Amino acid sequence: MTQFDTVIHSGQIATADQVFAGDIGIKDGRIIAVAEKIAGGERRIDAGGRIVMPGGIEGHAHIAQESSAGVMTADDYLSGSISAAYGGNSSFIPFAAQHRGQSIDHVLETYGARARRSVIDYSWHLIISDPTEAVLQDQLPRAFQQGITSFKVFMTYDLMNLGDGGMLDILTVARAYGAITMVHAENNDMVKWMNRQLAARGLTAPRYHAISRPELAEEEAINRAIQLAKLADAALFIVHVSTAGGAAIVRREKFNGAKLFAETCPQYLALTRDDLDRPGTDGAKFMCSPPLRGRETQDALWHHMAMGTFESVSSDHAPYRADETGKFTAGFDVAYPKIANGMPGIAMRLPWLFSEGVVKGRITLEQFVALSATNAAKTFGCTTKGRIAPGMDADIAIWNPDVTRTVTLADQHDNMDYTPFEGLQITGRPEHVLTRGASVIADGKLVGTEGQGQFFGRAPVDLRARPGVALPEFDPAQNFGTELR
Ligand SMILES: [Zn+2]
Repeated sequence: MTQFDTVIHSGQIATADQVFAGDIGIKDGRIIAVAEKIAGGERRIDAGGRIVMPGGIEGHAHIAQESSAGVMTADDYLSGSISAAYGGNSSFIPFAAQHRGQSIDHVLETYGARARRSVIDYSWHLIISDPTEAVLQDQLPRAFQQGITSFKVFMTYDLMNLGDGGMLDILTVARAYGAITMVHAENNDMVKWMNRQLAARGLTAPRYHAISRPELAEEEAINRAIQLAKLADAALFIVHVSTAGGAAIVRREKFNGAKLFAETCPQYLALTRDDLDRPGTDGAKFMCSPPLRGRETQDALWHHMAMGTFESVSSDHAPYRADETGKFTAGFDVAYPKIANGMPGIAMRLPWLFSEGVVKGRITLEQFVALSATNAAKTFGCTTKGRIAPGMDADIAIWNPDVTRTVTLADQHDNMDYTPFEGLQITGRPEHVLTRGASVIADGKLVGTEGQGQFFGRAPVDLRARPGVALPEFDPAQNFGTELR
């Protein structure tokens, strides 16, 4: 009888605060020992010359999700989770989206059925587009009891946008339960006004998508979202920050004590708005919201990443194929507002960040671990994931840091017909990925099986070191106080 099911030995273990030579002992899906040398193990995985780190937690992905326009993503939970695993992820938290008129219970039931195919562990952020009294008073608290501790709201798109009052209602419920509210921050009226200006001039090509959603629209909305969250003294997570101005606001308000978290995404650092100028329908492949920006923005976002403005780097995997099932459901020859927004990248998030960040010396390996897994675990309450330590789930990725490759579509293992990262030269590759001790990827090949992934419930957001505002206008927990009535 041996003490360990699996021992990973001879590797360099990377955590969010150190890198050291050591072995990891796994039993019943959990890490039970981390030591200089561990003998035994029914299975021994040689990690010599490799980096051993927590499996990635993908915090922003659209999987088997209908857009508000009714377009289904190309990836379901099988293809999406396989692609994620090839990209070094042991778990992910896609969105479960409420569309108007739907109950939250119905939404969670629907996504529960879809997610049963996943090869990696999963949870959901709940997108709320219809905060009725029943949703606020009854359904959200019930979702929270099931471990759904993050809600997402939109400040843009007519069918999703809640308005400032709707956001305050969600923030107040979230604060009462310890949930975090994620926000897509773009000023809806600025975008719609720009759309009208461009349409009046006949400017309809994909490149005008970037012009229609100005940096100012993001900066204004990020600032407004933060002030709303401060009024309710609620935790807020700004998704996909794409501008230097937006990042600077996040940095300032964190310094001021706001319960604030933020992410950026690879596409804003790897690609620019010039990619929207590609000929024919190719420009549409690079349409996402917020849109790609200029080269100078990339330098600023790298700087913010190194300085700690962002908790995570997430993919915002939004896979719409460049055909009539995805980008072009309204036809190939249509104005940019009728082309589906979003691009794939769940397999590229970590390889890209390792290559462009760690290999090129822009961030440390420890920062890479924090940005890819450990911070997401803290922010989203994944109490057993995202760390290499005794008692944690054996969610582990083993990377070859030296191998160099050219990015291809086949490498993504998703259900897409393009990758926006095609042709990029990158160094470093996850070769082995485990979820709760079971291999999903081994020697660079899929060995995981459909349905191997399990749902995980999450704890309230960790708000230590985020004091909040000193004097909120009212204490939402105190039922508004009589003086405000
Ligand atoms: Zn997204």
